[in-house]
Amino acid sequence: MTKIALITGANKGIGYEAARLLAGQGVTTIVGARDEERGRAAAERLGQPYVRLDVTDEGSATAAAKWIESEYGRLDVLVNNAGISGDHTALVPSATTTAQVREVYETNVFGVVTVTNAMLPLLRRSESGRIVNMSSELGSLSLALDKESPFWPVNLMAYNSSKSALNMITVSYAKELIDTSIKVNAACPGYCATDLNDHSGFRTAEQGAAIVVRLATLDADGPTGAYLHDDGTIDW
Ligand code: NDP
Repeated sequence: MTKIALITGANKGIGYEAARLLAGQGVTTIVGARDEERGRAAAERLGQPYVRLDVTDEGSATAAAKWIESEYGRLDVLVNNAGISGDHTALVPSATTTAQVREVYETNVFGVVTVTNAMLPLLRRSESGRIVNMSSELGSLSLALDKESPFWPVNLMAYNSSKSALNMITVSYAKELIDTSIKVNAACPGYCATDLNDHSGFRTAEQGAAIVVRLATLDADGPTGAYLHDDGTIDW
């Protein structure tokens, strides 16, 4: 049976590359994108379906779930990839405004809950549901406290804490779904050159997408509630 996957924010960057790689494995990969023109163009390039999905808009997530149900009847893979780095011009946490933090959380945290809740009924119909949440090493509390971290001097409080919250959200869903066949994991793609970081990353988006594909296609004996990158587990 052909697997059905949905990737949010799949019109570019790591999400697009993950869609390309999954589609290459024969998975029907629905390109979720908030902008119809960009989304349709990407889906056309990939030869895959498109659905409009703004993760900050509950109505959009509900409509996307309804469309997927009518087209496919179920969902096997959900990749919560859409993310923003937000306005991080404030030099220190105390100069960061609540509005700046809220904007990042709307997409990176609340958006994941919105989309996951909308898609869960469809994932429960899958024989082997997989949820991959795009986290970041920057969300690791252990690494943030390590003064050797190359990211230490940069104030990315809103972004980093949004990924820490996403990690706990990942574990929370994994616990809820522990007795089902659905696995929920957090992925870190490494520092990849994309629009998110003005292409300052030293990895390609395709390299970053590899861990996403691995977690999206995990075997039944694979982990759930884990935080992983290419080299294995990341310390929370
Ligand atoms: P990009 O900026 O290239 O892509 C982000 C994608 O998210 C775009 O498709 C964008 O759509 C979409 N998006 C943003 N807001 C919304 C929304 N409200 N609804 C739907 N889609 C939305 O970034 P990356 O590919 O680098 O990032 C992908 C994920 O990987 C993010 O979660 C990011 O935090 C994470 N990550 C990235 C790293 C990196 O080094 N690049 C490192 C660690 C994690 P649009 O084109 O419309 O703006």
